[in-house]
Amino acid sequence: MSVTVIRNAVVFDGWSETLLEDTDIVIEDGRIKELVTGRASVPDAIEVDAAGKTILPGLIDAHVHLLAVHLSATKNHDSPLTLMMAKALPRIKRMLDRGFTTVRDVAGADYGVRDAIAQGHIPGPRAFIGGPGFSQTGGHGDHRRKADSNRFPDRNANGLDFFCRIVDGPDEMRIAVRDELRRGADHIKLMASGGVGSPNDEIDDYQFSEEEIRIAADEAAMRDSYVCAHTYGPRAVSRAVKNGVRTVEHCNLIDAETAAIVRDCNAFVVPTLVCYETTLEQGGGLGLSPFVMEKLAYVVDAGVKMLELCEAAGTRMGFGTDLMGEMEFAQSHEFVIRARVQKPIDVLRSATRVNAEILQKPGELGTIAPGALADIVAVDGNPLEDIALLDGQGENLSMIMQDGALYKNRLPVREHGGATHAVAGAAA
Ligand SMILES: [Zn+2]
Repeated sequence: MSVTVIRNAVVFDGWSETLLEDTDIVIEDGRIKELVTGRASVPDAIEVDAAGKTILPGLIDAHVHLLAVHLSATKNHDSPLTLMMAKALPRIKRMLDRGFTTVRDVAGADYGVRDAIAQGHIPGPRAFIGGPGFSQTGGHGDHRRKADSNRFPDRNANGLDFFCRIVDGPDEMRIAVRDELRRGADHIKLMASGGVGSPNDEIDDYQFSEEEIRIAADEAAMRDSYVCAHTYGPRAVSRAVKNGVRTVEHCNLIDAETAAIVRDCNAFVVPTLVCYETTLEQGGGLGLSPFVMEKLAYVVDAGVKMLELCEAAGTRMGFGTDLMGEMEFAQSHEFVIRARVQKPIDVLRSATRVNAEILQKPGELGTIAPGALADIVAVDGNPLEDIALLDGQGENLSMIMQDGALYKNRLPVREHGGATHAVAGAAA
């Protein structure tokens, strides 16, 4: 049994307005055992002194594509899956360096990636995976060129095909959902509207029949799983949530009425604003076509208005980023963009407690409380006053703990009553 105590902590628990002052966090076997005001007496513990730091739950990004090593679909298409995985390793690690101890992959990663991280072969955030995103023929996940007439190959060895499964019709949908759940999917992803990166559709399109969406949601629910859906416009969003979709991603073009429908269906919006700003800045130079850049410009301005509409409606918002390929460095800038509209505490709630609920792990993830997994980040300064402390590549994070193990640490450590010294985590 290993016991660690984080001493002298000022704690944001993932929700409460008031920070817990002068708190010791006792961690036993990878979980938080108790929070003690003042000094916890735990003989033989490893003691980490967090004086002057703000302690947060490990951050959660609910919309990533771990394997999307290129922004350009053509380049992903030209990569065999093996090369793509090798190229993905450093970007997976960098997410953990930024304090994201958990992510939800919403197209691309399969149970092998999740297990490789969980078993310690790859340093990275704990991953919840859905396997490939489902697209109808001609939908957001169908990257065939117009000149291609062959049926979309199912699970080819090239990286791009691994991102998408073409599904048409109620019967195929039922089989596909059951099949991905068989393969260990934590959730099912549907492409329920047109998208920026796809060559054959418009943003305002809505995709999949209501029957297909409903079957996906029913089948997922039977296994205590759920459906997340890529959606932009009001029609796509409302069709999705009315037919059982639990999280709607992006939603840049949502209106007030639809934001209220999402709220009333008890669903979540997962904004991913940083991907549009960053890709608009850099995408032209990285091989995106003029058609795609035009679609991008159409949704980028709408993003901030979407935050205002969802705030006003009281719609629950998770936290996502969706950065493909070379754009991944900007992941933590999402905090700054969200804070243009929201209070920092609400942005942090999204990235901790709300995202944990999206992952169906309330009380286990995204919180500093007894019983939770010990995913803990120490910030130099107070991000509730200055959320930009979280921006960048983790420079202002002096400690990152995952599952009770120190991944990164520059705080003073005392082991088993011995002398105080600095212990570096694996990242240092
Ligand atoms: Zn995405």
